[in-house]
Amino acid sequence: MELFLLTLLGLVLGSFISAITYRIPRGLGFIKGRSFCDNCKKSLSWFDNIPLFSFLWYRGNSRCCNQKISIRYPLIEIASVLGIIFLYPNFVLILLFLLTFSILIIDIEHQIIPDELSWLVLFFSLLSPISYPLFSSLFAGFFSSLLLLTLYLITRGKGMGLGDVKLSIALGMWLGVEKSMTWLMTAFIIGGIVAGVLLLLKRANLKTKIAFGPFLIIAFWIVLLI
Ligand SMILES: [Zn+2]
Repeated sequence: MELFLLTLLGLVLGSFISAITYRIPRGLGFIKGRSFCDNCKKSLSWFDNIPLFSFLWYRGNSRCCNQKISIRYPLIEIASVLGIIFLYPNFVLILLFLLTFSILIIDIEHQIIPDELSWLVLFFSLLSPISYPLFSSLFAGFFSSLLLLTLYLITRGKGMGLGDVKLSIALGMWLGVEKSMTWLMTAFIIGGIVAGVLLLLKRANLKTKIAFGPFLIIAFWIVLLI
């Protein structure tokens, strides 16, 4: 029963995330307005909007114009279900997961990190009972972002975006000083491995831009949980 309810919750929140990560970078407003087909812009009925089931029912095609629906929707919904089941019953971490997962999706798809989401993570870390003694936490956020800011300045914005710098204030505050060091090192190692694999597979060259935010977020969760 518990697993069933968590799955439902995950599907609903996952479909919310897939909607806001589509809307925020396109400046479409947070929740306002009914959802519409990405392709023909017709508005969708409730039946087209049931997480996962609509996708499976129509075999991945839209009812309005019979076009392929992006795989992002079911993937985001399934990942949300798994994340929530894994982190339950820690609702603080579940909320942090939903926030950082949204940032990760937007950064992969648009190579930007919306400020409002980074500030939400920051605000949330100030309220969280998990966060470290405030001074140590602030210092970790300051130090992590200073390190990334230095890289940003040295590479003239090519190796790092200002969005990464701002996000690192919030994530550093969550981890505290010691773990922050491990976290940033892990992010660079994962980023290096992924970039190396992409180069080897010729899916990228030395000029390809790869968002760094997703590596920061994945490394953050590895260090926080392990
Ligand atoms: Zn359509």
